[in-house]
Amino acid sequence: MRDWPLWTLRTPALCYWLVIDALALAVISYVIASSAPPTPSEIGRFAAIAGTAGAVIIGSSIYSHRLRETERNPWAAHLCYLTAGICALPPNLLVLLLFGPALHCVLAQRPEAYRWIFTLSATALAVFGTRYLVGWHHPTSEIAMMVLGATIVLVVRAGLIALGLKLRRPEATFEQNVGEPIDAVLGVVAVSIGGLMGCVAAANPVHALIAGPPMALLERAAQLPQWRRSAQRDAKTGLSNAVHWDSRARYELTKANEQARSSAVMLLDLDHFKRVNDEVGHLAGDAALSAIALLLRGTVRGGDLVGRFGGEEFVVLLPEATPEVAEAVAERMRKAVAALRVPTMATDGHPHELHGLTVSIGVATTSRFGYELPDLLVAADAALLSAKAYGRNLVSMA
Ligand code: GH3
Ligand code: MG
Ligand code: MG
Repeated sequence: MRDWPLWTLRTPALCYWLVIDALALAVISYVIASSAPPTPSEIGRFAAIAGTAGAVIIGSSIYSHRLRETERNPWAAHLCYLTAGICALPPNLLVLLLFGPALHCVLAQRPEAYRWIFTLSATALAVFGTRYLVGWHHPTSEIAMMVLGATIVLVVRAGLIALGLKLRRPEATFEQNVGEPIDAVLGVVAVSIGGLMGCVAAANPVHALIAGPPMALLERAAQLPQWRRSAQRDAKTGLSNAVHWDSRARYELTKANEQARSSAVMLLDLDHFKRVNDEVGHLAGDAALSAIALLLRGTVRGGDLVGRFGGEEFVVLLPEATPEVAEAVAERMRKAVAALRVPTMATDGHPHELHGLTVSIGVATTSRFGYELPDLLVAADAALLSAKAYGRNLVSMA
């Protein structure tokens, strides 16, 4: 049990995650112990909601498996039918509905089940908190209260999970903890479909089937953020890939031209990187690339664009920088790379700290080369070659 990944969490995160799990367990136990047996009509509603949701999720899982999708976000669909349950089911059947995500975790053989359990516990607390608000025994059908309930379930769930993620990794960004705006949109769509499903199921269980197609569409749409990320980002470093960087850079340069702002493009190439691979292995080389990517992002401002140009080459656009500022930023990057120490594993399996990495940087500015990206890249590349020729670990201005 000591080897469970849960115990590797930092102490504040471990305590918080365990408290959330324990609270959810306590609430679920209370609900089971205090509820009366469901009536046949409530069981009918449960069967309709669970059957529709189950068919959608199983169908979507099979489809996703055929597409060889490895990472999926299943929570939008789960949140959808749980919201229907809040509106239409007694609390003990709502507990049964919570077995949906649990079963999904087991069947999909998700790694790190403790993370899934934490998300499920936070979801359970948000669901029962909302149920308490909209009426424990007879949930309201008043629209204002339903909208408030939908807001509460989303905000409480996101808040509980975000706090757990922040405690786990304090350096994580707001977006990594809370999600992107599209995740909020998906959440709103999920509870809206769920609310409608609950209302129609309360009137006639069979009508719950009508929520099947929109729920299936929601399930597919929930994968959009993941698809967009993999289309735009370089998997190894998390930076913009070359194609995405190119289109963003062109857009920023057009804006800079219109506003007569001075901008700069930098090309960075790690020095003698082949030696790193040859001496400590390609995995250590990859670790160095990731560490340098993180470092470069940390060295520039929010609006600056850092991308992976190719193998061990990076590219940076500073949309608002005079030649002097651009040179100072490049110098800062060069020094930061030289001071970097990357803990890695050598090919013999022993820990190895990489240090002494250096980078050569070519810088081209719009004041000399205009606002066309290809012209700036050609000039930056020529400057980079001269930095290499003059001995490497240098910044060269085109
Ligand atoms: P120079 O100072 O002239 O740039 O020398 P160099 O060895 O860095 O340059 P060269 O272009 O000859 O080789 C680049 C090397 O970068 C080749 C390859 O081994 C390594 N490389 C490229 N992409 C990756 C990657 O994704 N991972 C790892 N580990 N190495 C990579
Ligand atoms: Mg190279
Ligand atoms: Mg190189």
